[in-house]
Order: sequence, then C-alpha cells, then structure tokens
Amino acid sequence: MKPITGKQTEKRRQRNNLAKELGKCGRLMKGSLTQIRRRCGKSQCRCMRGQLHESLAITYKKDGKSCLIHIPKDLHTQAQEAIEDYHKLKNLVEQISGLNVKAFKDLARTQRTAKKSQTKSSDPIPFSGEGQ
Ligand SMILES: [Zn+2]
Repeated sequence: MKPITGKQTEKRRQRNNLAKELGKCGRLMKGSLTQIRRRCGKSQCRCMRGQLHESLAITYKKDGKSCLIHIPKDLHTQAQEAIEDYHKLKNLVEQISGLNVKAFKDLARTQRTAKKSQTKSSDPIPFSGEGQ
C-alpha cells in the first residue's frame, strides 16, 4: 500500500469530520418559523384595541400545499433548533459533495494517466487523488 501523504490524510479527516457532523442533525425539520399576529375575537380583549396576540408557527410544504403548525411557547427553542439543523445539514451535504467532486476529479485524472502509461493504478483507495 502506498504511504498516505499528509495532504490525503487532511482531506480525508476533513470529510470524516463533516460526515460526523451529519449525524448530529437528526432532529432536522424543513420549514420556516413565522410570527403570527391575530385577533382572538373576544370583544373585551386587548387585541381589539390593537394589541394583537402573537404566536409562533412553523410553515412547511406538503404535496405542494402550504401547511402550518402552531408552536407552544415552551417548544420555541426546540423548533428553532430543528430548523437550524436542517440548514446545517444542507450546508454539510454541499461541503461534502464539493470535497468529493474534487477528489473524484483527481481520481479520474489519475486513472486516465495510469491508462496512458499502460501501468496499473497501485492506489486501491478511492477518493485519494493528490494535488489540485
Ligand atoms: Zn384577544
């Protein structure tokens, strides 16, 4: 086996770290937090004098339709974190994909070069191309 260069180790480590982060986004939820202001309809309520009731909701799409869940106050933080997890996950997927595209490009180039010189590639590890 070819010795692993520092560069390769670094790349692999980076990808492993990102992949590990993926596992921490298990609560993810796709949606947006929306502040809702409304009148409750009671004639004596403060909302009739303009102080509208405020609440938080999550809006999301299901089968192309917009849906809404009202979030009780003690679940605000959880809802927020779940939505943040979704964005974090999306971001991580983009980063990992970017690294893999780079690595794959290198690998493809290495394979082409190996074919040209009629020698078998001695590197059995995928995604371990060197350089840029
Ligand atoms: Zn009211």
